[in-house]
Amino acid sequence: MRLVILGPNGSGKGTQAKMLKRELGVPHISTGELFRAAMRDGTPVGLRAAAMVAAGELVPDDLVLRILGERLAESDAAGGYILDGYPRTGAQAAALDELLADADRAVDSVIELAVPDAVIIERCEIRFAAQHRSDDDPAVVRERLALYRSHIPAITGHYADRGIMTTIDGIGDATAVLHRILAALPADPGFAAPHG
Ligand code: AMP
Repeated sequence: MRLVILGPNGSGKGTQAKMLKRELGVPHISTGELFRAAMRDGTPVGLRAAAMVAAGELVPDDLVLRILGERLAESDAAGGYILDGYPRTGAQAAALDELLADADRAVDSVIELAVPDAVIIERCEIRFAAQHRSDDDPAVVRERLALYRSHIPAITGHYADRGIMTTIDGIGDATAVLHRILAALPADPGFAAPHG
C-alpha cells in the first residue's frame, strides 16, 4: 500500500499515520521528520533547510524532493509507505508522480482528513495550553491553516483526476477515524483498475 495522508496540523493526521503504519505494516515517512533528523545529524540538506524549518516556511522543492527521493529509495519502502507532510502544493504532487514513475512505486491512494477550521483551532488551543508546542500557538495555527487551505484544492484535484482521492470525515475518536480510512482503501492495489 502506497498511501498519502493529507490534513493540517490538528487534523489528527500524525496519529492516524502512526496507527496506519501498524495496520498496514509499511513505514511512516514524514518529510518534516526527515528534515528534523537531517538537522540533528548536521547533513548538508539539514544545514540548508534549518532556518526555513525553524521559521515554519516551506523548504524549496528541490531540497524536499532530494530528501524524500532518498528515503523512498530505501529498501523498507519497496513494499509501500505512508507519506505524511508531502505534497504541500500542486507542483509537489506533480513532482512526486515524476519521481515515482520509473521506480514502480506510484501512489495508490490519497486520504484527506476533513476537519472544520473551528475544530482545528480549538484542538490546537487545548494542546498548546497543555504542551506549549510552538506549532500549536494560535497565531501560527491560523497562518498555517490558511496556507494549507490555499494549496489543498490543487493537490486534491490532481489526485481526483487520477481517481485515487478520498476525503474522510476526521471528526470523532481516533479509532473510528482509522476504520473510516481503512474502509476507503483499495482492497488489493495490485488488482486496482489502471487510471488514466
Ligand atoms: P511538518 O512536521 O510536516 O510540519 O514539517 C516541518 C517543517 O518541515 C515545515 O514547516 C517545512 O519547513 C518543512 N517541510 C516539511 N515538509 C515539507 C514539504 N513537503 N515542502 C516544503 N517544506 C516542508
